[in-house]
Amino acid sequence: MLNEILNKSLETGDLTREEILRLLAITDPDEKSRLTETSNAVREKYCGAEVYLRGLIEFSDHCRRNCNYCGVRAGNTCAHRYRIPPDEIVKTAKGIAENTPIKTVVLQSGEDLWYTKDILADIIRRIKSETDLAVTLGVGEREYDEYKAWREAGADRFLLRHEAANRELYKSLHPDSDYDNRMNCLRQLRELGYQVGAGAMVGAPGQTLEHIADDIEFYKTFKPDMIGIGPFISHPDTPYKGAASGTAELTLNVVAVTRIVTRTALLPATTAIGSIDPMGREKALMAGADVMMPNYTPYEYRAMYEIYPDKKCFTEAVDHNLSDAIARIRSVGRVFKGGYGHARRLDK
Ligand code: SF4
Repeated sequence: MLNEILNKSLETGDLTREEILRLLAITDPDEKSRLTETSNAVREKYCGAEVYLRGLIEFSDHCRRNCNYCGVRAGNTCAHRYRIPPDEIVKTAKGIAENTPIKTVVLQSGEDLWYTKDILADIIRRIKSETDLAVTLGVGEREYDEYKAWREAGADRFLLRHEAANRELYKSLHPDSDYDNRMNCLRQLRELGYQVGAGAMVGAPGQTLEHIADDIEFYKTFKPDMIGIGPFISHPDTPYKGAASGTAELTLNVVAVTRIVTRTALLPATTAIGSIDPMGREKALMAGADVMMPNYTPYEYRAMYEIYPDKKCFTEAVDHNLSDAIARIRSVGRVFKGGYGHARRLDK
């Protein structure tokens, strides 16, 4: 049966739920390498060899939410909180534009209302007028008029992981967030013309393969332009302290199946998978990923943004992050050419 599913995967991404579950459940090393060969072939055919780089600035770790898995959660009194002033955010983005070949800046934070609609719109406008960077936002759930203002200021993309397509799992991970509002935000972002990113953790407490299949079926219907997939990593200052972390093995299966099903989505080789497996990012590239995100958060803030512990890039200098990403891309026979890497549906 596996042969049939893999042959079908080369022809079409339209796998049944049963077929998705069969691929997600693979643990045998030989079957695993056949899955990876298939997803890599799909990536080659639909996406080509290029890997896109995004320069990440984590500009605030204040957050009003209490997601059970996250070290940035409001209830974590051990967290060292910071906000990067708007001028410094713009200056950092300009540094990326002037000193690197990267063409996208990702502005990421907790849900921090200190950055009002107008403050963030002004930051976006300044970056768009003073650089040639594409701007991606990752600032969580906000109001429609805020999303609209930031889009009008020039923001190109928005990352809002859906976190769990299954309503009950979503609730157990997010005690003070609302599933319907999350999904509504994703729809609003799409309606406003953003390139929209979704995604979820792998191996979160209570998550089963059926839940992961729900996520993959969600990708089939919502068709996100970008999809972030990383392992759950247990953080000691959260309600999930001591819980078993997700594995690189299952995370790679999810990357591979997501590539097969979506064909063209932009899939990052996440920092999180590199944090639980030193070769995790290379393996993710081999399983179908095509994006990497070197961290450009100014050094004095970087260790404070601790969604999960022992994050890679804490101790690495900015230049190292870029050269390290390019070396990893080349080590698996892929290329970095420095384009924007917009959503592939816009290429048509
Ligand atoms: S996952 Fe995001 S919204 Fe939830 S607590 Fe962490 S930073 Fe805040």
